[in-house]
Amino acid sequence: MQMNSAAAIVPIVIVLLIIVVTLAARHRGYGVGGRNTIVRCLEGHLFTTLWIPGISLKAIRFGPLRVQRCQVGDHLSIVTPGEKVGSQRC
Ligand SMILES: [Zn+2]
Repeated sequence: MQMNSAAAIVPIVIVLLIIVVTLAARHRGYGVGGRNTIVRCLEGHLFTTLWIPGISLKAIRFGPLRVQRCQVGDHLSIVTPGEKVGSQRC
């Protein structure tokens, strides 16, 4: 059985897309992709987590949303990349 060329290209395109999105987010100052990515829960708590684009080790993913236990409030919440590196909120 031979895989057609279009089916062989799809995984390569997905990996390249993940790399491009990660690099674009890092270029904009978000520390996405790493062991100490700063994330924010819906209640506003900030904490660091392991964030590998395209892979969920500590979170449950629903499409683009990540549901993870908040380490500060000890509850489940949707988390998003919280802060740009070097930025501060008042
Ligand atoms: Zn929280």
